[in-house]
Amino acid sequence: MTMMRSVTGFLSRVVCLMILFTGWAVAQSAAPSDEDVHRRAQELLGKMTIDEKVGQLNQVSGLESPNDPKPDAAILKGQVGSVLWQNDVKEINRQQHLAVDKTRLHIPLLVGYDVIHGYRTVFPVPLAMASSWDPSVEEQAQRVAGEDSRAAGINWVFTPMVDIVRDGRWGRIAESAGEDPYLGAAMARAQVLGLQGKAIGPDTVLASVKHFCCYGASEGGRDLDSSNIPEVLLRNVYLVPFHAAEQAGAGNFMSAYVDVNDVPASGNSWLLNEVLRKEWGFKGFVVSDWAAVGDLITHGFARDPEDAAYKALTAGQNMDMDSHIYTEALPKLVAKGKITQAQLDEAVLPILEAKIRLGLFENPYVDESKVDAVLDRPSSRELARKLAGRSMVLLRNDNHTLPLNTNAKKIAVIGPLGDSQDDVKGTWTVEFLNRAMPRSHTVTIVEGLRNKLGADAQIESVTGPDLSRQIIAQFVADPNGEAPRHELTAAETKEWLDKAVAAANRADVVVAAMGEGVNMFSRATLNFQGIQEQMLEAVVATGKPVVLVLVGTRPLDIRWANEHVPAILEAWCPGSEAGNAIADVLYGNVNPGGKLPISWPVSAGQEPLYYNHNLTSEPEDRPGFTSRYWDLSSKPLFPFGYGLSYSTFTFKNLRLDRKHIKAGETAEAQVDVTNTSQIAGDAVAQLYIHQRAGSASRPVRQLEGFERVTLQPGETKTLKFPLGKEELNFWSPQSRAWGVEPGVFDVWAGGDSTASLHTELQVSE
Ligand code: BGC
Repeated sequence: MTMMRSVTGFLSRVVCLMILFTGWAVAQSAAPSDEDVHRRAQELLGKMTIDEKVGQLNQVSGLESPNDPKPDAAILKGQVGSVLWQNDVKEINRQQHLAVDKTRLHIPLLVGYDVIHGYRTVFPVPLAMASSWDPSVEEQAQRVAGEDSRAAGINWVFTPMVDIVRDGRWGRIAESAGEDPYLGAAMARAQVLGLQGKAIGPDTVLASVKHFCCYGASEGGRDLDSSNIPEVLLRNVYLVPFHAAEQAGAGNFMSAYVDVNDVPASGNSWLLNEVLRKEWGFKGFVVSDWAAVGDLITHGFARDPEDAAYKALTAGQNMDMDSHIYTEALPKLVAKGKITQAQLDEAVLPILEAKIRLGLFENPYVDESKVDAVLDRPSSRELARKLAGRSMVLLRNDNHTLPLNTNAKKIAVIGPLGDSQDDVKGTWTVEFLNRAMPRSHTVTIVEGLRNKLGADAQIESVTGPDLSRQIIAQFVADPNGEAPRHELTAAETKEWLDKAVAAANRADVVVAAMGEGVNMFSRATLNFQGIQEQMLEAVVATGKPVVLVLVGTRPLDIRWANEHVPAILEAWCPGSEAGNAIADVLYGNVNPGGKLPISWPVSAGQEPLYYNHNLTSEPEDRPGFTSRYWDLSSKPLFPFGYGLSYSTFTFKNLRLDRKHIKAGETAEAQVDVTNTSQIAGDAVAQLYIHQRAGSASRPVRQLEGFERVTLQPGETKTLKFPLGKEELNFWSPQSRAWGVEPGVFDVWAGGDSTASLHTELQVSE
């Protein structure tokens, strides 16, 4: 009987939908054209009341909490266009049924979630993936993340985060591709492509490009502080990856929380209307960051909810993420004539279009019986392991300490990250956000070493005190209403240090697994939390070979380690297969080839630190230059683009096919890269340029090409990089336009941003 009723319900709905969408049959067989999608959305819009339209602009939490009641009642009233943060597939289907079966126009919900670097199978954090300098890594990972999400009922993911981050103190640097616009743009494109494919469709998810704009540039790395960025920097640096993501077809943008030059991004008409829509031609919709429409009042930008709704909508903000401002305020604003029907329609239309493209009208539900077969497939885990290996950066390797020998079976794993699961997976995992969700297995470092060395290995782990004793991680802070635990006493500290030393003395090799626990906090310092550095000093003092594996989401102050530990591997947060991937690199099954997507500071006091700064009146390579600080070098500990390998490479014969071009023409730079070692490995050739003179001071150097290549022992490859309009142009603050200016350009190629192989390109009018 129940079955019958649902079958009849289903059929009547199909008929209903077919009537609504005359192009339905055609749309089944092929991705609908833009015109078709537009026409269908217009038709639907024509049937909607003002309240129903406003409903589509409202996103609410799918979870129940004291501030957010279950969304059922609002869905039934047609007041909800999208839910977020619901990832129980049964509940998603139930909520979809409410929207589709029980509302007048049967409009399905967009279901959004923060699937940042994998759904059930967790891939390396985006900063790590950017360290691969291989956009295909991001694309592959995001493709799987998208497939998994879609199978689990999530049709919209709040990724990629393409904020440029020049300051390691900022808490969310791990979600970014680092400091460089060129690398950032490549990673942004790859992520959009991975998630959405060539076109948003029934098998893909909608990508949300965030945080538009400039969340990652909040002053002093302080989370949510204001961003003050001159237009010239916005255009040439901060907006570049956003534009790339838009050009790659991203269907959604998320506006940031922050003030951008005193106008909150979520009410910033210049950013949303002028730049994003008019200049770039964006046709999708914009969602605010969580409660950011309401925050317009907190900012002191909007007077009250009505003013906030007015300012947000007229600034080009389509959807209000859970601040519940639009629902009440927009109908009133329309009634008063302050917002026109046309403005409202314009806001709603791209949301309906997204739903049509995603195929939600035809198939709003998920087959619950199929979810488990899709999530955490063996092929996804294999991929996670491979990509994690490609993402790690070898920072130091004195006297060939690495790779380790598998015959050395006694290993002491020292530090809080050696046997930890959440920390190696990293920030913003779905299961970390939703503790009730089933968890996938995470291979810890200890487990990975055991897998590599076999049953006869003797692996002893001394974790040291729980990291949360110093900094309680967000979302798990005080999970049971407990007060933060007490500071470590001197006796407890001694006890841990003694244990670490004893384990090191019993071992052939010490693997120190240290860094930061999972978090998204901004920090004022970049030191190791807790007693990690003391533990490191204690085990180094034993004289045993020590390898430091850094786990975490930002560059730390590793001055001491850099002087005293022979081998340092930055593993970042490698994800579900962390331990296996780390062991692959430590034992040489994978030859590390990752490079830093950030300039690694000596100390937090140098931040913000980035390689593509201007020459200034006191260039740092000028003879006699000491430092910009009295007490510390202004140079990074490791430059942008840096990373070692077990192989060695040379870069030679940098040449141009034409030494002289006209503005608008393209020259080709070529460079020969040779593997000078006995072992196959990956080099990342990087091309940098500098415009010597023009209408504005230009960065001392800027990345304009890169390629990661595998070279067999002794092998040489010639890599080619175009130098044309795309690479040479910039937005001049004087002409207020993009252009290639005539003059001389320095060109460098090599293995990092300090490359010295140089040539010159002349550009004439
Ligand atoms: C974060 C966004 C996230 C959103 C939804 C916000 O607090 O800043 O990055 O996508 O919440 O979870």
